[in-house]
Amino acid sequence: MLVVEAAPEFYRGGNTRHTRNMRCAHDAATDTLTGPYDEDEFWDDLYRVTEGHTDEPLARHMIHLSKDMLGWIAEQGVRFQPSLGGTLSLGRTNSFFLGGGRAMLNALYLTAEKLGVTVIYDAPVTDLDVETETGRFRSATITRDGEEILVTARALVAASGGFEANIDWLKEGWGERAENFLIRGTPYNRGDVLKMLLDRGIEAIGDPTQCHAVAIDARAPKFDGGIITRLDCVVFGMVVNKHAQRFYDEGEDFWPKRYAIWGRLVAAQPDQIAYIVFDAKSLKMFMPSLFPPIQANSINELAEKLELPVEAFEKTVSDFNTAVRPGTFDHTELDDCHTEGLEPQKSHWARRIEDAPFYAYPVRPGITFTYLGTRVDQDARMQLAAGGGAENMFAAGEIMAGNVLGRGYAAGIGMTIGSVFGRIAGERAAQNARN
Ligand SMILES: Cc1cc2nc3c(=O)[nH]c(=O)nc-3n(C[C@H](O)[C@H](O)[C@H](O)COP(=O)(O)OP(=O)(O)OC[C@H]3O[C@@H](n4cnc5c(N)ncnc54)[C@H](O)[C@@H]3O)c2cc1C
Repeated sequence: MLVVEAAPEFYRGGNTRHTRNMRCAHDAATDTLTGPYDEDEFWDDLYRVTEGHTDEPLARHMIHLSKDMLGWIAEQGVRFQPSLGGTLSLGRTNSFFLGGGRAMLNALYLTAEKLGVTVIYDAPVTDLDVETETGRFRSATITRDGEEILVTARALVAASGGFEANIDWLKEGWGERAENFLIRGTPYNRGDVLKMLLDRGIEAIGDPTQCHAVAIDARAPKFDGGIITRLDCVVFGMVVNKHAQRFYDEGEDFWPKRYAIWGRLVAAQPDQIAYIVFDAKSLKMFMPSLFPPIQANSINELAEKLELPVEAFEKTVSDFNTAVRPGTFDHTELDDCHTEGLEPQKSHWARRIEDAPFYAYPVRPGITFTYLGTRVDQDARMQLAAGGGAENMFAAGEIMAGNVLGRGYAAGIGMTIGSVFGRIAGERAAQNARN
């Protein structure tokens, strides 16, 4: 078995090295999870975030198999850390990799190498030879040190990510706005393998504009900023666009169920920029970005520093403060702190922005991964546009995430898709190769 990786060894494992946790169903609390999260609850969460845009039998199959993942992945050498509380609210549902995604990957590479798997780096797949009518993979061309090498195999597992790092492709769905997007992960997920597969008769699934996109610090690098540029403070303040207008309910629901809508919301604003504004009492309540917040001693001064229209900003803050109803603030539950008579309202965790110093983070859409991909069945077998399954081609992870995620996201589902379908794809490809 051969793994070919476009990136140098240091960057192996693409976006997976940025991850921290995985969502799996389980019937009882474990050493590292604070309570049960059964298949029905997982399904309800998935249904809600995707608004029903998911392949139900396939999604339920994935959720069912996710129960086995925690034990299986631990058997491959991966360790988990004790559950996390705080603002993440994921202690019951999501398992956190001890040492993060990179440590998890290192354990998996070690196990794979012990099993005799060869990995070659700096080796992008640049061509695929596929029999279009049957979906039979014959060979892949990889380009290494400027040389083309032909690799034949009895089966192919495509786990080469989405096309989020390919701005030109993003522009096809999003238009010029995509120039202002920041890519949170690896610059190597350019969708080249996905494009080749779709060109060679594999059925596409998903909408090219649907993706996982969060609001990240606008000062983040164009690629690979990772987790440290993400901002979790939307629920603690208010968010305005460059005209100093609010545009969405910042306190709609718990952050893990809502954070992935904010990339899209900011993408819809003028110049794809927004500002999360809060005051002194919220500063220590969330994980900060890599960059310090912009600070000012008055609302006026903050508007000037953010280059926002001062009068409009003052009015937005004052209207917001007037609309806040007294309540008991509790970020661990859907509390009763809300606004009244404000459009859009803030449903929970609404507190007046009145205690200096005042702060803001500028944010842009941070694209995590795209959902347009290859259709698969429950065996992770790619499906042909002309009908039927491909003879020996399987897919896992971002490249087929759109089967489960027609839209939306809840924390940790990327790794559920990657690990559950990765395991299935590996097993089926091995069986296929042996037959
Ligand atoms: C900052 C960040 C944080 C995240 N946190 C979480 C989290 O905590 N939990 C969660 O569930 N999900 C998280 N995700 C999403 C998660 O990373 C993805 O869902 C998952 O890693 C996808 O795995 P994958 O194997 O499909 O892609 P990747 O892990 O990106 O792997 C794709 C690989 O394919 C290689 N490749 C690309 N093109 C080619 C080619 N032509 N030839 C050869 N190789 C190629 C790339 O170099 C890369 O190594 C996060 C993503 C980011 C960016």
